Amino acid sequence: MDLSYTKDDLAFRDEVQSFIGDKFPPEIRAAVQRSSYVPKEHMVRWQKLLHDRGWIAPNWPVEYGGTGWTPMQKHIYAEEYQAADCPKISSFGITMVGPVIYTYGTEAQKKQHLPSILNSDVFWCQGYSEPGSGSDLASLQTKAVLDGDHYVVNGQKIWTSQAHRADWIFCLVRTNSDVKKQEGITFLLIDMKTEGVTVKPIISMDGRHYLNEVFFDDARVPVSNRIAEENKGWTYAKYLLGHERAGIAQVAKHKRTIERVREIAAQESADGAVLLDDPAFKARLMNVEVSLRALEITNLRMQANISAGKSPGDGSSTLKISGTQIEQELNEILVQALGYYGLPYSMEQFKPDSNEPPIGPDYATGLMADRLLRRAASIYGGSNEIQKNIIAKRILGL
Ligand SMILES: Cc1cc2nc3c(=O)[nH]c(=O)nc-3n(C[C@H](O)[C@H](O)[C@H](O)COP(=O)(O)OP(=O)(O)OC[C@H]3O[C@@H](n4cnc5c(N)ncnc54)[C@H](O)[C@@H]3O)c2cc1C
Repeated sequence: MDLSYTKDDLAFRDEVQSFIGDKFPPEIRAAVQRSSYVPKEHMVRWQKLLHDRGWIAPNWPVEYGGTGWTPMQKHIYAEEYQAADCPKISSFGITMVGPVIYTYGTEAQKKQHLPSILNSDVFWCQGYSEPGSGSDLASLQTKAVLDGDHYVVNGQKIWTSQAHRADWIFCLVRTNSDVKKQEGITFLLIDMKTEGVTVKPIISMDGRHYLNEVFFDDARVPVSNRIAEENKGWTYAKYLLGHERAGIAQVAKHKRTIERVREIAAQESADGAVLLDDPAFKARLMNVEVSLRALEITNLRMQANISAGKSPGDGSSTLKISGTQIEQELNEILVQALGYYGLPYSMEQFKPDSNEPPIGPDYATGLMADRLLRRAASIYGGSNEIQKNIIAKRILGL
């Protein structure tokens, strides 16, 4: 790929910058800078602004609401978007189930779901993992039994991010137990308001609520909510996972974090020392910068594949591993740069109406919380160990 900007690219970059400059609400930027976990009302408001501009789903085909941008334009957009601290788009609809619906769904499913995903009226969550079925996802046990024109669903999902804020869940369910485990799985779209669906919170180690258990007790789901063929859900599930991992690199966001590290580490400490001058600290930071450059090039190659209508494929496992390793290393460096201000931990800092003054400088708020929260980034979306197995098997042919 040619990585230099043409005149058109530069004009496009100006267009993106001026849109974000005009439309991105400062209070949402402040919330993002406080924590990577952004309240739903902010997400809806911002996503609707993007939708009005036609920029909510750059990777979708134009016929379904995509932008038709070149890989370079997508790259520029991501750079500008993340550099301005815009919040990560809620991915369950746009990045995950949307592409499954426009690729495999019926016309009625497309008509029902795609517009409300694009305009953020409906939020989704992902019901894949179960207790005992995470890495070995195909062993899942939530059962769906056909009863007339409905499936009756019984079982439990776990680690369901945002289920408490979601309107719909896309679920993998077992419809045949007598065949190879991958061959008895069906992909269902389930309204969270369905009788028999219950959500229970799981509080994560940063003290906040994103995760849930979801229980199904005789929940009746219309057969018309099934994606394509019964027992072929594994094919659609894998297609979705490729998309999930493709969005995970977040190169420009990491570049922005490096800038932030530099700003914080350039401050003088009480004894007059400047951390950024410390050779060991500088070497640590530069190591991440080199890894990030390599990730950027790999990401661009994958974007070009997606734009050419190819699946992101198994290469997305590489992005997932490097992207999350870089993110976790940067989060740790940020906390190191805070020195002792990294230690106090107050839940008050996350309440918008809190009167409690922050402990330490403003920039310290939320950094430790994000470090704790994002420890999970190497687990969700398929753990990094599993991604290494995929690379060994499918890319290296071992
Ligand atoms: C914050 C967070 C959000 C999540 N959100 C969602 C969500 O929205 N929807 C959803 O469906 N799921 C979600 N998950 C679940 C996530 O996908 C699983 O946690 C993940 O797939 C790992 O499964 P597990 O927890 O059952 O661990 P296990 O599969 O039991 O793995 C335990 C450890 O063993 C390692 N391991 C397992 N098998 C192998 C192997 N064959 N080779 C080498 N190492 C192996 C794993 O890497 C891991 O370190 C989320 C998880 C977290 C932590």
